[in-house]
Amino acid sequence: MAEPLLLVSDLTKNFGRFCALDGVGLDLGAGEVVGLVGPNGSGKTTLINVVSGLYPPTRGTVTLAGRPVHGGAPHTVVRSGMNRTFQIAKPLGGLTVEENLRLAGASAGHRPLPEGDLLQLVGLSGLQGRVAGSLNASQQKRLDLARALATGPRVLLVDELGAGLSPAELDQAAGILRQLAEAGMALLVVEHLMGFLAKVTRAVVVLNAGRQIFRGDLDQAVQDPEVVRVFLGG
Ligand code: ADP
Ligand code: MG
Repeated sequence: MAEPLLLVSDLTKNFGRFCALDGVGLDLGAGEVVGLVGPNGSGKTTLINVVSGLYPPTRGTVTLAGRPVHGGAPHTVVRSGMNRTFQIAKPLGGLTVEENLRLAGASAGHRPLPEGDLLQLVGLSGLQGRVAGSLNASQQKRLDLARALATGPRVLLVDELGAGLSPAELDQAAGILRQLAEAGMALLVVEHLMGFLAKVTRAVVVLNAGRQIFRGDLDQAVQDPEVVRVFLGG
């Protein structure tokens, strides 16, 4: 079998004596989408933070196309072909949409899509001259996605893109993610909303309190007693 594009093994992250991630493993191939679900505080964002190089792992490894990236700084990880979006989008508010994208593109080692195509893909066409801080929350999320895409990633880590979007915007966002996967990008889609995830993939990993409690098909996940208990808070 070909080496997966992203391979995460035994990933553990402690904050002091608190264990936020405990031995999590997953892999992603080109064009594959894996959903990472779990209740608030289960370690989803921490996993993205460690995989993307924001935090060093306490234990475990992350490899991208067979090369270790764990412990690398975020800009190094971006240049090696992996980027992430943020649960709370924070574009450079004083700069325009176009300037935000240009800055992101300049920090990458790849040839990304032209800015116009990126804006069209995320539904921000015509807004390139707008100051990012004047966009609404949904537009800022889409700009954050475009910013990550402007670095030309082969692997994209998406943190709760669905949160706060209207049903129509959710459909649109799911469509964008499917389109990226069809173009060969590997996606790890962190979501709180199972319904949104179902529009994007069937393959899920479920976290609870930093531990992986399920890995497999979404249909089976929602019938798994432990997953059900965790989601219903029982
Ligand atoms: P999720 O994204 O699944 O809601 P997080 O990964 O944000 O969860 O958080 C998992 C746990 O780790 C939470 O209890 C959170 O308070 C804790 N945590 C996350 N980041 C830090 C940090 N930098 N320092 C201390 N604790 C943290
Ligand atoms: Mg989170």
